[in-house]
Amino acid sequence: MIDYHTHIGQFYDIYTSPSELIRVLDSVGVKRFACSSTTICEGNYDKVLSEMSELVHISENRVFPVLWILPQMLSDDGLLRFINSGIPWRMLKIHPQLHPLSWQCGSRNLQKVVRLAKHLNLPLLIHTGESPGCYPSLFERAIRHNPAVTFILAHGRPLDETISLMQKYPNVLTDTAFMPVEHIAKFCHFGLAHRVLWGTDVPIQRYYNRKEDIMTYYKKRLCGLRDVVSNEHYEIIMSNIIYNVQIVKNSNIMDNTFICAMLAMHTLAAKEAFGANAVVALNAGELGVYENNPTIIEYEQKGYKFCDANMFGEGLERMETLTFQKVNKS
Ligand SMILES: [Zn+2]
Repeated sequence: MIDYHTHIGQFYDIYTSPSELIRVLDSVGVKRFACSSTTICEGNYDKVLSEMSELVHISENRVFPVLWILPQMLSDDGLLRFINSGIPWRMLKIHPQLHPLSWQCGSRNLQKVVRLAKHLNLPLLIHTGESPGCYPSLFERAIRHNPAVTFILAHGRPLDETISLMQKYPNVLTDTAFMPVEHIAKFCHFGLAHRVLWGTDVPIQRYYNRKEDIMTYYKKRLCGLRDVVSNEHYEIIMSNIIYNVQIVKNSNIMDNTFICAMLAMHTLAAKEAFGANAVVALNAGELGVYENNPTIIEYEQKGYKFCDANMFGEGLERMETLTFQKVNKS
């Protein structure tokens, strides 16, 4: 299971260290997770950078580090410091509820961040909700003008606005952080399960409910979701990937960001061509060889049928994605 929305750091009076977060996630079976530090709200760049490097180090590449951008980082040296920090950022994030005026649609700030997401091939997570500056529709223009950028509308609120944007634009995803399970079911009902990312906002619940253990909360969420969506939709949501962190060593062009972008692109295309059940994986075997291929064997054992292959990259730095479709049990 991948959790696309978690945090470490200072949140008001509560502090969560990298090792504490990992302990929670391990105990509930999360294999990989996207994470940002709420310490950024204090504007303490040094502390955030040291927390994030510790997290990358102790999580052994299981983390997708999220670069949470404050408006002020665009004018001081902050953004540059974060980008050059050596932390392998996998997602950008902005929080318009905290800075409603700074991320207005059409503002230079928003344009800069979207351009950065495009340039780095990283998805952009936007905190959305019913507060001034946070409504998803406020970002429609940016979404429409940047089809190459993946926008993740965190929390998916308000529901109707999020659904209508997802229906209009294939580059829009949502995450389930703090989302009522009935709303998750609504996305499935509209055929959008393959663009709903499992995210929990863990461990922010510690602040709102001091009596409940965070692992109990997590397990309840999973059970709650199982209760309202079909097994098939549950599986789709839990297996949604926007990128894969297979490491390619000593490569010039095939860095992980590029590979992740290709995987995300091929996944979207595969779901268009073969339906929401389609999944895409990097070929771990010899390129172009589909007999006794370890990736195909692995997926066939999981009940998938191999249906397509696509190479990308050049020369020695070539890779291939394999597309699979879930076999219907009759
Ligand atoms: Zn959050």
